[in-house]
Amino acid sequence: MSSKTRMIQEMDWVTYQKHVANGAIAMLPVGATEQHGPHMALSVDAILPSAVAREAASHVNGLVAPALPYGCRSLPRCGGGEAFPGTLSIASHTFSLLVKDVICALVKDGFRRVVVMPGHFENIWPANEGIQLALDHLAGRGLDDLSILRVDFFELVRPETLDALFPNGFPGTELEHAALLETSLMLHVAPALVDTSKIPDDGPARVPAYDRFPKPAGYIPPSGVLAPAQGASAEKGALLMKDHVEGVVAAIRDGFELPGSN
Ligand code: ZN
Ligand code: MN
Repeated sequence: MSSKTRMIQEMDWVTYQKHVANGAIAMLPVGATEQHGPHMALSVDAILPSAVAREAASHVNGLVAPALPYGCRSLPRCGGGEAFPGTLSIASHTFSLLVKDVICALVKDGFRRVVVMPGHFENIWPANEGIQLALDHLAGRGLDDLSILRVDFFELVRPETLDALFPNGFPGTELEHAALLETSLMLHVAPALVDTSKIPDDGPARVPAYDRFPKPAGYIPPSGVLAPAQGASAEKGALLMKDHVEGVVAAIRDGFELPGSN
């Protein structure tokens, strides 16, 4: 057991309690179990926010809670959709209650500042709902000194980095599912869970400007990869990770008005 870890699941309770007493900030990655093409593990959306949180934590006195492993239903336009084997989703109201309950558990232990970090696009709005439900519930018990941030790490990337990675133009964060960004980040943080020899070339998705239910056949590539992943590399992942960590640290400093923020 490393005494330096900031991951709650790697910590004994006595050490954990000391961190909380020392004013630590709780960081809660909220992931998914969702197809990420034939070349990556199903846990990408939980691994990436956890990895960003792990690196950011030491800069902001953060402690990283275990990532929620199930996310809200996959939308074809940003995750390929529910039909893919291995995409195991929960209803958004269940997810919101899970977020609420975990926040309440953290607050029960003494945390007063929590950062919710989605790694899966579809979790964003239900995470907001969970945060509000927690605040309402805790206010009813007289706990009104809480402050909670939702930080979307994938949006925190410098335009220069995107220009360097996408000389032909950035397709947008939504379509980047299992594509260059996520594959590069995974090659950087968990290369054993990526097999670049299986990167498909049946994309990109032809995405309409609306969502149709049930999803019509055809516009999602059979591989589930929505934009090209060719050219992904650990070096590009390291570049992205640096931006994500800096962006998250800056957001937390600003959001909680920590010393060192502008
Ligand atoms: Zn993903
Ligand atoms: Mn996702």
